[in-house]
Amino acid sequence: MHTTLEDFLKLATPGVRGLRPYQPGKPLAELARELGITDAIKLASNENPLGPSPLALAAIQAQLPELTRYPDASGFELKQKLAQHHALTPDRITLGNGSNDILEMLAQAFLTAEQGAVFDQNGFAVYALATQARGAIAQVSTSLPATAAMPYGHDVERMLALITAQTRLLFIANPNNPTGTWLGQAALKHLLDHCPPQVIVVLDEAYAEYVDAPDYPQTRPWLDIYPNLVITRTFSKAYGLAGLRLGYALSHPALANILNRIRQPFNANSLALAAAAAVLDDTAYLQRSIEANRAAKQQWQTALAQLGLMALPSQTNFLCVQVTRNAAEVYQSLLREGIIVRPVGPGLPQFLRISMGLPAENDRAIQALQKVLA
Ligand SMILES: *Cc1c(COP(=O)(O)O)cnc(C)c1O
Repeated sequence: MHTTLEDFLKLATPGVRGLRPYQPGKPLAELARELGITDAIKLASNENPLGPSPLALAAIQAQLPELTRYPDASGFELKQKLAQHHALTPDRITLGNGSNDILEMLAQAFLTAEQGAVFDQNGFAVYALATQARGAIAQVSTSLPATAAMPYGHDVERMLALITAQTRLLFIANPNNPTGTWLGQAALKHLLDHCPPQVIVVLDEAYAEYVDAPDYPQTRPWLDIYPNLVITRTFSKAYGLAGLRLGYALSHPALANILNRIRQPFNANSLALAAAAAVLDDTAYLQRSIEANRAAKQQWQTALAQLGLMALPSQTNFLCVQVTRNAAEVYQSLLREGIIVRPVGPGLPQFLRISMGLPAENDRAIQALQKVLA
């Protein structure tokens, strides 16, 4: 009889045995259940604080009577729009149930126990999880030091040096979560120029819409130069549709062909397909999102300076803030004040990741942080 977790783990694949579940930001409803706080503010999952685009909501409403039907498995209409948006052909687009789904597809397609993936120690948590789930080799690159021009940023030379004949994937979020740091055009181009052809470079641009750094690369043209480049994008952040789960990859058509073999036939649901197509047209919403984020970052940076706290450079909709003590404890104290943020974790034990909220939400969170640190 198999009854304990250990019993079942023995049956699981070696990769699954070593997995630790992804830690999401605490949902508001959970805090309400645990501490009875019903007016909490969640700045923990880098969500868009503006609420969804009215065009997206209208598209969802119009789609509701069709819910008995399966979604369009080819995502024809959305792919047409994305193809136009990025100036490429639809056969270079793969849709995912969030870009997370794309990252999993890449791991499934290219990693076994004999192969490896390179990623930064402070890279997006999903890279380590997707690699571990296949029992593949995690080739973890040490971040740049705190004293670097880009503190805790990715060390391109170190990543290149880690590549072996076994390496199949190299993951980079640009800009990166949870640090907010980024790689400029020259560093990234250098990496691509020196990556052997058997290594697929996964460039995760989940926050690209927020970026205003002048050295940030426009990578779309690079797809024509580097067939081993995959760019992932998402509707979860600046486009404000995290709850619907829709992301996509841009790649060489042959690579899209491979991902399409693995992709679950109906991985992008019909409401997500409709809403995403609609929000792509809502350039005013995107502009509002970017502007609100810029203002919120200003608000936080001013407040943090007054509190004497340092934040890492960020091109995203969150700040990675050094609280100069155990961040897990500060996180717990903030929870009791009704503020949900994220402790970054073992790699950066003194850092909290704080998503940018509405002005009043930021005010309350800043006051709580001040109180907790006093
Ligand atoms: C939020 C985020 C994603 C997006 O995930 P979805 O599955 O598209 O919601 C991908 N990569 C990074 C680095 C992120 O922070």
